Amino acid sequence: MKVTVITKELELKRPFRISRGAKTTSQSVFVKVKRHGIEGWGEASPNPRYNETPASAMTALAIMLDSLPEDCLPYQHIIQHLHPESKGQYSAMAAVDTALMDYVGKYMGAPLYRLWGADPKRMPVTSYTLSIDSPEQVAEQAKDAVDFHALKLKLSGDGEHDRAMLAAVRTVTDKPVRVDANEAYTDREVAAREIEWMEENGVVLVEQPMPAAQVEDMRWLKIHSALPVYADESIVSEGAIPGLKDQFHGVNIKIQKCGGPNAALRAIGMARALNMKVMLGCMVESSLGIAAAAHMAPLADVVDLDGHLLIKNNPFNGIGFEDGRLILSEEPGLGLHPNREIMIPDEDDAFI
Ligand code: MG
Repeated sequence: MKVTVITKELELKRPFRISRGAKTTSQSVFVKVKRHGIEGWGEASPNPRYNETPASAMTALAIMLDSLPEDCLPYQHIIQHLHPESKGQYSAMAAVDTALMDYVGKYMGAPLYRLWGADPKRMPVTSYTLSIDSPEQVAEQAKDAVDFHALKLKLSGDGEHDRAMLAAVRTVTDKPVRVDANEAYTDREVAAREIEWMEENGVVLVEQPMPAAQVEDMRWLKIHSALPVYADESIVSEGAIPGLKDQFHGVNIKIQKCGGPNAALRAIGMARALNMKVMLGCMVESSLGIAAAAHMAPLADVVDLDGHLLIKNNPFNGIGFEDGRLILSEEPGLGLHPNREIMIPDEDDAFI
């Protein structure tokens, strides 16, 4: 198995602001495995919130890829072996897992949604993310999202500003709005009051209203919230999900955070067993990382997979978009093609 690792800076179409800060670029680490002419690709989008950097992801990848066997078809055994080797660098683990699944899908001649038993005709609509900005700018962003049937508004934690942003969105559209607080509220009474106001203004769910550490407050808020609350930052790995049942109605599962598509599939199963709702989310990722989630997205209740639409220099082609939904390629594996002008061409078939 030949392995290539390529780091790439993804440029955002507009600065992306959430309650923790703003960014204009995002660094991804791409992994390619290749054997007998079949390529499998995976992407890591390291996140500082979870102690990940491109450098730490590269270090983990070097260890994991070094122990990759020649035959990767018994991938479940390989993934079980690699998970502890990743040392908590879940985005790096996700890149390897995704690359193996893309390879396996191509080897089997089937798109991954077929292998995972997902029906693309049951793809939920995906939301378009509005980043924190002036109310006027947020309204402009909402206007730009004409092709989407749902919006996701990032909150600042400044109640007055957040209400002004949502009110501005409401002046241009009555589409359902999902709100992501990114741990913005530290006072549960304030959170409950703001959520009640949101419910009156067409918000349908709230992601991570309070900091992950405020477990008792989240238990209280789940009971007193006017809207379903979904965990995001509270999920550090799939194993955390059972402990969240009494804090949240649903979980936002992200391939980058749980360590790959196989871990995400296990997390979906776990949430279902606990009778929790499933949202499938993403980081700022190229079409590659998004495709891995998109192939299992028909299994989710809520889909939030727009990371690839936020970047200018997308290194992969192959995900369509129609009537507010992602359209999957029917080609084997992830069904993607690298944009050779952006990705390093084929001759680099060596570990970098
Ligand atoms: Mg979130």
